[in-house]
Amino acid sequence: MTVHLPRRRLLVACLAIAAAVPTVGADAGGASPATPHATAAEPGGTETIEVFHEDGTISQAEVPAEPAAAPDSATTRMAAAATVTPLQETGPSSERLDVVIVGDGYTAEQIGTYHQQAGAIWAGVLAEPPFTDYQGAFNVWIVDVISPESGIDNDPPRSGIVRDTALDVALYCTDGCSIRADSTKALAFAASAPEVDSLIVMGNTQWGHANANYPSSTRPGMMRVPGAREGVARSVLHEFGHSIGNLADEYVQSNGGRYTGSEPTRANVTTYTADQMRQNGAKWSLYLGSPTPDGGVIGAYEGTWSSYRYGLYRPSENSIMRTTSSRFSLVGLDAMERAIRAKATVPATDYQVTLSADTGSAAAGTSATFTAQTTRRSGPTENVTLTASGLPPGATADHGVVRTGGSRTFTIATSSYTPPGTYPVTVTATSMSGTRTATFQLAVTAPSSAACVGYALAPSASMTAFDFDYWIETGLTTSTGGTLRACLDEPDGAQFSLALQRLVDGQWQFVAMGSDGGPGQLLNYDGPAGTYRYVVVANSGSGAYTLAFSMP
Ligand SMILES: [Zn+2]
Repeated sequence: MTVHLPRRRLLVACLAIAAAVPTVGADAGGASPATPHATAAEPGGTETIEVFHEDGTISQAEVPAEPAAAPDSATTRMAAAATVTPLQETGPSSERLDVVIVGDGYTAEQIGTYHQQAGAIWAGVLAEPPFTDYQGAFNVWIVDVISPESGIDNDPPRSGIVRDTALDVALYCTDGCSIRADSTKALAFAASAPEVDSLIVMGNTQWGHANANYPSSTRPGMMRVPGAREGVARSVLHEFGHSIGNLADEYVQSNGGRYTGSEPTRANVTTYTADQMRQNGAKWSLYLGSPTPDGGVIGAYEGTWSSYRYGLYRPSENSIMRTTSSRFSLVGLDAMERAIRAKATVPATDYQVTLSADTGSAAAGTSATFTAQTTRRSGPTENVTLTASGLPPGATADHGVVRTGGSRTFTIATSSYTPPGTYPVTVTATSMSGTRTATFQLAVTAPSSAACVGYALAPSASMTAFDFDYWIETGLTTSTGGTLRACLDEPDGAQFSLALQRLVDGQWQFVAMGSDGGPGQLLNYDGPAGTYRYVVVANSGSGAYTLAFSMP
């Protein structure tokens, strides 16, 4: 085996993501990133792998391709005789995702260590959603691959040591060190397991990290991992993001440029800004503004898919597809869970949605608030989209996505034009497992005098019956056209009226009358630039009043 000698000290752990197999689900019509996961390896050629750094960041490197020839007959014989032990067996392979682990550099005496390390990695995977709740969707098989010698080639890094092992796992070092293996031998051993959806090649070393190819029609997704390395499960989780969820990388290489292709099909990259998604409903539009498990809220963050600093957006600031120490975003979780359910038989999630109040009221122009609480009774945690419908005219309410068990506060904002009345507002919860609804009875009342708050000017005065006031007698001039808005708060028991006059050719003309908005009068008038004044008339009763108004 060729061993590449050191040029620099090892700084980082590396995780190889080989690109020996063409990507599955390549984006039709959209340009794929130039390098990652895209090139088929030729014997003697190179392939692109991911390098996982200690601080959780990820970059890429070119390394020699792994062997692609058929395994020799000795390997084939040994593979056929290998013992296969279930780390967990939850059901028939036809209804499960089968993860197969093959080890290298473990002698017969070290099989116990091998099983222990495999168990630790899988435990690390299960500690992270969505795996925590979807454990029952997976079978995990450990194939006992016995090596004549303990350890792997070139370990410690750049030592040049060569060892006789079953799968020829070695450290390949450039800036960091990546684990390489004879993938054909690994596949031959993996074939002893009942089924292979994902293959993990585990080297007996503390250096480097996992390895994954996207699955193809002829090969499963495949990783290479250092069995003795602390924290390697984080890289395995990132690779499952690719191999199970078909998620794109969300980091950007230092030479990343501008994306000019069409909209990609991958769930976690888009050409649309947040505003464009709100308009066209594409991609994660319903998620926008929702808190996400990896921190912050879902939005459109520019720079993603390893090659594009500009013109392409990711759902969250920093998910596990960008930094291995992070977590899957809400959008990533949805893609993972859909993919798991597509292969594995998983019970539907039984959940309910309840509201903090069944009824509420708001004066027109103000808001009503309530909380929608989701509760999971059984089945895995999953995303629930919460929307409100049946809103009264002029009212708005935001939507959002939570995990089952989470809650969302709805604020229904009415406008001063919303007609008084009772409106049944339906809150609809939608998840992969089904739809639930709950109803909130919203009583919209006429604007109270409080509705006169929010205007630029609010002079007060007192008046007795049959008197009238001008605001102001000589008029107020607006140099731009637009809406003149006014609100009259009358004294209790009195009946006042409100009118608007415009100065035309030196004459005051009535152009608008206020209408009864309940305890007050409202007036809105779209007019041209000019000079205007309000007239307040006391038709009956007397007392203090407030006229509030805003000019365009
Ligand atoms: Zn990646």
